[in-house]
Amino acid sequence: MSWIADLLRTPLWGRLPRGMLDRWRDRRVRDLVEHARRTIPFYRSLLEAHGIREGRVRGVADLPLLPPVAKSALRVAGRRAFARDVPPHLARTWSTSGSRGEPLVVPVRHRDLARFQAVNHHSLARNGYRPWHRGLSLGSQAFRFENPLAGLGLFRWTWVDPVRPVEEWLDVYHRLRPHAVHAYPSALREFCLAARAAGGLRWRPRLLTTGGEFRTPDVVRLAREVFGQAPLDQYGAVEAGRIAFECRAREGLHVRVDAVHVEILRHGRPAPPGEPGTVHVTALHMPCMPFIRYRLGDTAEEVPGPCSCGLWWPRIRLLTGREGETIDLPGGRRVPLTALGAVAGACAGIRRYRFVRAGEREIVLRYVLRAGGPEPGPELAAELASRLPGVRVTTEKVSHLPLTRTGKAAWGGEGTS
Ligand SMILES: [Zn+2]
Repeated sequence: MSWIADLLRTPLWGRLPRGMLDRWRDRRVRDLVEHARRTIPFYRSLLEAHGIREGRVRGVADLPLLPPVAKSALRVAGRRAFARDVPPHLARTWSTSGSRGEPLVVPVRHRDLARFQAVNHHSLARNGYRPWHRGLSLGSQAFRFENPLAGLGLFRWTWVDPVRPVEEWLDVYHRLRPHAVHAYPSALREFCLAARAAGGLRWRPRLLTTGGEFRTPDVVRLAREVFGQAPLDQYGAVEAGRIAFECRAREGLHVRVDAVHVEILRHGRPAPPGEPGTVHVTALHMPCMPFIRYRLGDTAEEVPGPCSCGLWWPRIRLLTGREGETIDLPGGRRVPLTALGAVAGACAGIRRYRFVRAGEREIVLRYVLRAGGPEPGPELAAELASRLPGVRVTTEKVSHLPLTRTGKAAWGGEGTS
């Protein structure tokens, strides 16, 4: 029952000596690679193709022997990327949101989910959350699980479906009076606009966190105004669970070294601290479908030096959203959609928006107007166009913008609607 021991160790790792955690991580990586070789055809072929013999990967330091793995390769591999020794009744499947293309189906066991939840809750606990607090999740799937301890009044999270009207979210919020709120940034923005229009909040949570989408500065400003606090960011992915979390020092996000190994690579090599690279993750707790040196695609940089909060876990800073969330301009320039999101997000009349690429030199901003909200003027398209030289920018008011299957507003993409 080593998984129970792992589960119970989750809140302790931040206090135990670093050497102990490093040895445990090396063992996890070694076991994961050998498990992948034994039971997963995709990885067996990959290891063979790179001449990596049994026992060669002894720990974290040997991971670069393996090549980075792209999502598309796993999608093509299909069931050849699943472990063969997982009985179907022990597993359920998850799926990535697909907001950047086709979703990826990921099998997980119930015990892996329990560990995900332990890591999730502990990331909040580092910032003051306690198991008996009431939690409200706006859109985010991170805390949306049946919890056997909820009957004892522990780890109680209420989930609000972002497809429902925003007035319902406010009702649930005021009825529940949550101690902790976790939200997709797009949902938090909608919530703050509606709360402000309704005269503000009568209850304020102790902890406000965001995750699941890249967060633009306008969301932080709105949250400060409406909740009296800036949200702390949580970084995760279906493929790896919670990857990193922001502490109250707000000097970057601490990597969950007890759950993942993160590499920031540029042209296949580690990017120096303070310089941007692409996030690659090795999930230490995903035996049903291992993700080893998996390219997540977000751009981040390593934050050098110790954090003033005292936790030694390394830190990263997220720089833009995933690669699908950038616009390639003629001439090789790349503009993150988040830079445009900051412009659209600053229009209080806009309830929800999405950027759609209509052609090589054409971008459309589709938006839904908030009830009674002011119509954005022509300066909106002009402001966007000034950030996209050589690109035609138009705006289009629509009555409805569907969310992705996991409730994200989706920043945009090629031809998505
Ligand atoms: Zn810190």
